[in-house]
Amino acid sequence: VTETPEALRRPTMQAVKSKNAKLEMIVRRLLHAAAYRYRLHDNTLPGKPDLVFPGRRAVIFVHGCFWHGHDCKRGARMPATNRQYWSAKISRNKQRDAEHIHAIRKAGWRVLTVWECETKLPSLMKRMTRFLG
Ligand SMILES: [Zn+2]
Repeated sequence: VTETPEALRRPTMQAVKSKNAKLEMIVRRLLHAAAYRYRLHDNTLPGKPDLVFPGRRAVIFVHGCFWHGHDCKRGARMPATNRQYWSAKISRNKQRDAEHIHAIRKAGWRVLTVWECETKLPSLMKRMTRFLG
């Protein structure tokens, strides 16, 4: 069995979705254990935020570093093939994310983005607690 290194594998929509579901579960578990209650994927708000806290007028997005173009090592990694395609696609994703955040804030909500690379940090819970109040 030959395995393709992860960096060379072409990200598929399915892979993106399942990775995002995993990241989201990490965040949900932490917040649930701390007795926070939230709605999931509220499609009445721009960008369908992953977690919505209506009483606090707050939303959390959980974003994969590659797909959403995070300014970190993981986010800078590009597939070996079709680089132009991916970098254009990721630029569009970033643009769309920025528009969604702007629109949500304009509607009077607070927004926190939790990045994939932050989901393993011990400081994540503190950061979310500080944001949620
Ligand atoms: Zn990152």
